[in-house]
Amino acid sequence: MQEVSDSRQQASPSFSSVAIIDELKRTFATGRSKSYQWRVEQLTALNQLITENSKDIIAALHSDLGKSDTEAWLTEIAYSTSDIKGNLKRLKSWMKPNKVSTPLMAKPGKSYTISEPFGVALIIGAWNYPFQLVVAPLIAAIAAGNCAVIKPSELSEATSALIAKLVPKYLDNNAFKVVEGGKDETTELLAQAFDKYFYTGGEHVGRIVMTAAAKHLAPVTLELGGKSPCVVDGASNMEIAVKRIVWGKWMNAGQTCVAPDYILIEEEYLADFSQRLIAEIKEQYGNDPKDNKDYGRIINQRHCARLINYLDGEYIIHGGKHNIDHCYIEPTVLVQPSTESAVMQEEIFGPILPIVTCKTKSQMLNFVTSRAKPLAAYVFTSNDKFEAEFVEQVSAGSICINDTNIFLVNHDLPFGGVGTSGIGQYHGKAGFDTFSHKKSVMKRSFKFDAPLRYAPFSKFKLMLLKKFS
Ligand code: NAD
Repeated sequence: MQEVSDSRQQASPSFSSVAIIDELKRTFATGRSKSYQWRVEQLTALNQLITENSKDIIAALHSDLGKSDTEAWLTEIAYSTSDIKGNLKRLKSWMKPNKVSTPLMAKPGKSYTISEPFGVALIIGAWNYPFQLVVAPLIAAIAAGNCAVIKPSELSEATSALIAKLVPKYLDNNAFKVVEGGKDETTELLAQAFDKYFYTGGEHVGRIVMTAAAKHLAPVTLELGGKSPCVVDGASNMEIAVKRIVWGKWMNAGQTCVAPDYILIEEEYLADFSQRLIAEIKEQYGNDPKDNKDYGRIINQRHCARLINYLDGEYIIHGGKHNIDHCYIEPTVLVQPSTESAVMQEEIFGPILPIVTCKTKSQMLNFVTSRAKPLAAYVFTSNDKFEAEFVEQVSAGSICINDTNIFLVNHDLPFGGVGTSGIGQYHGKAGFDTFSHKKSVMKRSFKFDAPLRYAPFSKFKLMLLKKFS
């Protein structure tokens, strides 16, 4: 692994996490990252990095995941630039002290909170949206005034290398470092005392990151995954529902943390729904998605083999073709898998969609609420009562009604899981808050000093204290 530096610095072949963190801590101690101007400069430079290199970013994403130009632009490039735009627009107001009321006991006085940066953050990314998943936390870290080490996923090699090449060219070199590598390098980084740990990926490593953060009693954000259910009320607008499900599920060949993991539908609607779903898959990806440039590839052969194993013994009503040498799996639909099967026990994170039927709407709700809290939960319905029950009863990182992944375009909606799907939130103001400590400040006036709280006490003082507190 290499620490990547810009042309002004010699790339060091030997990686020293101690040297990196020391440098960033020294930079943070100068206080320059706290200024509004520096934050704006860095965000503007990051925007420039993206816009000036969008072709290379798209090419890297294509090389790693076979991502189409449109998908890469929509979900990684435009997604990141619109986040920067929103941050730049509102940063000044986020940085302002936030006044809160002061109780009578502490009057005359005033109280407020100030958002201050934690210091040096560690941002660890995952491979499925390998650009956006490190850039979005970086935007939040910069907006909040932090320095950061960025560790992209080693599985998305081309994007990792590009990030490592570009960051030093555009951003403050003494405040941001990219470290490339996998388990060993991340383990070495995790041994250092960062002021904030931000991790995106699976649950197993999430626990490792949280354990590392605990050693330093440092705050941690875990952006994890899980099985995101998609409940379809067959009486809703099925024509639009299937379009939105196919879009959300087979985007990035199903390798989206919030993609619908499985469908729940009442038995009577199964045939109609399946027929429409298959027709829509063909509409969006053609009869042979293998030759369709809009359809992506699985990240590597290991993940491809993992996904192919899910098909064993299942009733496939569409797709199922695969070519492990080319990391290709056709959009695939299964019906009625056993709830004990691997495909219904593990997060699929690929282009396979099981359909499970229930007898009633309340059974569908029970199915969802009796399982781990998902990152996202979807319901398609025109029934207000069912919608209200779903929103009230289902605990999930996010809920989207009558659509799938689209909720992510709203940077004003905090994003993150709950329970095993994650801890903490980001995007927009939530990201700024995630990388900030809210420092409480109370200022008292010398003008008046009520003697009530000072000894010697008396019954009269106690009576007054009770009255005014
Ligand atoms: P991954 O393999 O890219 O691993 C994530 C990061 O952890 C990488 O940077 C990797 O280098 C590091 N890592 C791997 N093993 C490690 C170890 N033993 N010790 C320390 N670091 C280690 O990604 P993944 O885990 O396959 O990610 C897939 C999961 O991520 C899915 O569950 C998905 O739902 C979730 N995800 C969540 C979000 C979100 O925003 N909530 C986004 C994308 C993916």
